[in-house]
Amino acid sequence: MADLSVTGAQKCILDFARKLDVETVKLEQSLGRVLAEEIRANRDLPPYDVSAMDGYALRSADLKNVPSTLAIIEDIKAGDIPAKTVQAGQCARIMTGAPVPEGADAVLRVEDTQALSDGSVQINVAVKPGNDIRPKGEGMRNGEVVLAAGVEITPGVTGVLATVKCAQVQVYRHPRVAILSTGNELEDMDDPVDPNRIPNSNSYALMAQVQALGIEPDLLGIARDDPAELEEYLLRGLRFDVLLVSGGTSVGLHDYVRPIVESLGVQMKFWRVAMKPGHPVAFGITAHTRFFGLPGNPVSSMVCFEQFVAPALRRMMGHTRLYHRTIAARLTHDLKHQPGRTEFVRVTLAKEEGGYAATSTGAQGSGMLLSMARADGLMVVPADSAGLAAGSLVTVQLLDGTVFQDDAGFKE
Ligand code: AMP
Ligand code: MG
Repeated sequence: MADLSVTGAQKCILDFARKLDVETVKLEQSLGRVLAEEIRANRDLPPYDVSAMDGYALRSADLKNVPSTLAIIEDIKAGDIPAKTVQAGQCARIMTGAPVPEGADAVLRVEDTQALSDGSVQINVAVKPGNDIRPKGEGMRNGEVVLAAGVEITPGVTGVLATVKCAQVQVYRHPRVAILSTGNELEDMDDPVDPNRIPNSNSYALMAQVQALGIEPDLLGIARDDPAELEEYLLRGLRFDVLLVSGGTSVGLHDYVRPIVESLGVQMKFWRVAMKPGHPVAFGITAHTRFFGLPGNPVSSMVCFEQFVAPALRRMMGHTRLYHRTIAARLTHDLKHQPGRTEFVRVTLAKEEGGYAATSTGAQGSGMLLSMARADGLMVVPADSAGLAAGSLVTVQLLDGTVFQDDAGFKE
């Protein structure tokens, strides 16, 4: 069977990734979660016409001939209820957010006036009806749907939820994710440094990738390439919603992971994708668990996570935007590529006139984790490409950390 394409593998995985059940969380704990309910406004905001400025509430018809002088009948602060009606020749001193009194149809900001010693005010500019008044219900109307189900809770959404007094919100549950590394050669964080062994970086890089999605994973540690030990660890892992296994899925003599998970009831959906790095990636399911067999090479493991695991986790969390944002960029150098597999080249991005320039981070071996640490994004070289020339327009998937930039990026 021909290897699956990256998008074919993504589609297969997403067919088996459904959003999880709904739970109630406190507003304070809800940032980044996805709303599982529709939210309506429970009042008009503002509740009445209010002033948008510190100034004077007045009758615009009184300002036909400026400068003119108006008598001040009242002071109105935010939260006050006005007591008087503004008549011809009169105004009320008003603060931002305070209700506009009866009789007034406009507000004039204090900067366009001059207080006089007799307690009246000189008005220096004419204004139209409605000037600097925020009408009742401008922000939201009672009963109106303000947030649809499926919306991600960003700080702006949190503000809206607080406005409608949603102290508890219904959101989709996060998946429980287990991470297991496999390999006799691996040395874990607490082990003494042995120059003949390989430090277990994958468990931690995968942990961070899961955390970047807002999920706290469980690290199951390292299983040796021993069928009995592997079976014990994998059995534990299969109790989670998602099990990520690093290493042991290739064709080596001691790559036992796939046969063992199958013997434990995992139905394999695919193994091997036409991509570089990341070729020997595997995916399977049980009734409750999604199993990902990720290649042991550190870059392959991370690239496969971003292509396959991240979209699945995001869908399980209720998100509808599942993929990393892509941008168009201009390649700054020639790039060799053998047709056959989709390649993900680690690149840095620099802003340039009209867009971005992409430059390879250097040597791209699948064990060269520094190429990943230095990258702003993954440049996608299509499988059928026979190489790219400097200046080519390319597609780059943005990695975390690219939301912020060195300078403000706009002119005023
Ligand atoms: P495997 O997929 O098990 O054949 O592993 C491929 C390569 O990835 C080997 O050179 C391993 O040493 C390396 N590797 C496997 N697991 C890890 C890990 N958890 N951390 C860092 N490197 C690893
Ligand atoms: Mg191995």
